[in-house]
Amino acid sequence: MAEVLVVVEASQATGVKKVTLEMLTIARGLGSPSAVVFGDASALTDKLAEFGAEKIYVASGEDVEGYLVAPKATVVAELVKQVQPAAVLLGSTQEGKEIAGRLAIKLDNGLLTDAVEVAADGTATQVVFAGSTIVKSKVTKGLPIVTIRPNSVTPAPAAATPAVEQLTVAVSAADKLTKVVERVAEQKGSRPELTEAGIVVSGGRGVGNADNFKLVEELADLLGGAVGASRAAVDSGYYPHQFQVGQTGKTVSPQLYLALGISGAIQHRAGMQTSKTIVAVNKDAEAPIFELADFGVVGDLFKIVPQAAEEIRKR
Ligand code: FAD
Repeated sequence: MAEVLVVVEASQATGVKKVTLEMLTIARGLGSPSAVVFGDASALTDKLAEFGAEKIYVASGEDVEGYLVAPKATVVAELVKQVQPAAVLLGSTQEGKEIAGRLAIKLDNGLLTDAVEVAADGTATQVVFAGSTIVKSKVTKGLPIVTIRPNSVTPAPAAATPAVEQLTVAVSAADKLTKVVERVAEQKGSRPELTEAGIVVSGGRGVGNADNFKLVEELADLLGGAVGASRAAVDSGYYPHQFQVGQTGKTVSPQLYLALGISGAIQHRAGMQTSKTIVAVNKDAEAPIFELADFGVVGDLFKIVPQAAEEIRKR
């Protein structure tokens, strides 16, 4: 069975990211998954094995880790030439998409971004126009290079015993034009990462101001969830942009999504509509979020949220 290269997304702080596990799950339907890790892989191998990586390629050292994405694209391009994989999957993330673009240019290959599914024949499914249209596409030149939108599939474990292979990295001076001068770890509180959280509590313009977001945070903390925000809340300065959910924010797909004071605009839905259970609190019974919600509470969030918090505390 041909290999399928999965370019691993991971962080030193939290380990292998969920999108990587999703890619490994998709890769198993296309061939034999091989993970490509940049940097130290020792803390990642168990997780990659648990989700079916048959092989782990590791590219490390200053030439790869000391620069932005260009050397990584070179490493993957060389690996593609060497192993002739059936497909290459990358995360539809800032870095994944940039590597993918450079890789496609280097290989003179087609590229599909933001797929939510890839069929065994390489046909990718993309959901566009904020979820209103589904497009099926296929790369017609070269192998399928596809970026996968985080939270598209449920990662399924499938234990493997991967062989680990250290790659010899030969990057050119042209790959070293943008050097990493400093790494600043994202402020990480006790809350789970937004795109990986099983529960997300999001606040919208209805929350009213930045101070009131404490209410959203408090409920999230009681439930062990992450905090999200609508774009209106972010644009109004209530909450930082990194927590925006939606078309121009992050895509989440938790077990439980609570929308507090969010109207449910199509651009917001684009980032949360695949949540398993959606609960909305809105004082306007006509708010479009109720079309989507599994459970809806019509009322003032400033009354309902403290009551809900009180009940949860009792349990
Ligand atoms: P509003 O639409 O103003 O809704 C506020 C809601 O709060 C209302 O329904 C109101 O009834 C309710 N409310 C008010 N007070 C209370 C109270 N006390 N108790 C209970 N309910 C109350 N939006 C996103 O969220 N994410 C995106 O990524 C995104 N990308 C976009 C990209 C583009 C190109 C464009 C054009 C728009 C985008 N938007 C995005 C904006 C989107 O169209 C909406 O404007 C936005 O989602 C509205 O946010 P909201 O629901 O918080 O605010």
